[in-house]
Amino acid sequence: DPADTNPSEALRDEYQNLADLVRKYRYAYYQEDAPTVSDAEFDELYRRLEELEALHPELVSNDSPTQEVGGEVSAAFAAVEHLQRMYSLEDVFSLEELEAWVRKAEGSVEKMGSTVPPIAWLTELKIDGLAVNLLYRDGKLVRAATRGDGTTGEDITHNVLTIKEIPRQLSGTGYPAEVEIRGEVFIPSKAFLEFNEALVEAGKAPLANPRNAAAGSLRQKDPAETAKRPLSMFVHGIGARSGLDALSQSETYKLLVDWGLPVSPYLQVLDSLEAVLGFIKHFGEHRHDLLHEIDGIVVKIDDFGTQRALGYTSRVPRWAAAYKYAPEEVHTKLLDIQVNV
Ligand code: NAD
Repeated sequence: DPADTNPSEALRDEYQNLADLVRKYRYAYYQEDAPTVSDAEFDELYRRLEELEALHPELVSNDSPTQEVGGEVSAAFAAVEHLQRMYSLEDVFSLEELEAWVRKAEGSVEKMGSTVPPIAWLTELKIDGLAVNLLYRDGKLVRAATRGDGTTGEDITHNVLTIKEIPRQLSGTGYPAEVEIRGEVFIPSKAFLEFNEALVEAGKAPLANPRNAAAGSLRQKDPAETAKRPLSMFVHGIGARSGLDALSQSETYKLLVDWGLPVSPYLQVLDSLEAVLGFIKHFGEHRHDLLHEIDGIVVKIDDFGTQRALGYTSRVPRWAAAYKYAPEEVHTKLLDIQVNV
């Protein structure tokens, strides 16, 4: 039906309003570290935007929010170019959508021919924190940056140097002369509760949630302020590197551990969708017994050759997906504290 591909003025208006709203919410979330709507509400708007674009591809422009990685670079920080681009993740919101995504990935891998090994699914928790890129030269941490728009991030080196889990110097001798390590900075759940209790005791307002507290802490102008916050990190990816011949991401994680980097204790390499579903069920039930907050799980094709062959869209890798757990009431913990005082 040609009418379908020819959006009416009303639809264009809806699309523009929606795109503006998504930009506005992203600004509050990434630039101000103070979201004005819940993640679930944001995800729903974003999804609607994607649906409109799928129905009417002519609405899509290069600066559409769906074509960009979320953040920008604030004038408060020096801008730094990542050596290799950073990406977001494709979200799926139900087990059916995850299955469809897995089947599609399997189909693409099958088309590559018989040299491709059966898919090993590297399955990880989706840490609800802030993406950070660490640059090591000759084993020394020389720069740390936020993800920003994926190409350019904010220089937060001085703040990252206050996080004790992040080595200033890599261990051993096997590391590349130059390597970018990506991961998530977060405030551990227990430390967050204790930190908030101390704030409340001191008559101060508690922090709203660990994710935004982590982001706000890391984007302080004064590293001495950052140092007071109980920040931690798990690394979950590798960017540019000079001469490293690991075959898979899980194999790379073993090297990262050898170099002294903090790798998550929760990840598993699984050989089937059924096993991945079991992982999702398990961690869905134990969501609040973990070291940190999660908002989902991430499934990655482990093999680097397959990752390279599948590549990236302008926003996300085609070899990974994020399954999002159903939203929960976000203020419960905060209210508990207020009730207890
Ligand atoms: P995302 O957070 O959904 O996924 C991409 C990020 O996940 C990566 O950059 C990476 O840093 C992180 N990640 C965590 N654990 C990982 C792991 N094990 N492996 C790989 N990556 C891992 O995408 P996004 O584009 O950063 O942001 C979208 C998210 O932010 C949505 O969940 C949305 O709800 C939220 N958001 C909320 C608002 C709001 O107003 N509430 C606004 C903007 C974005």
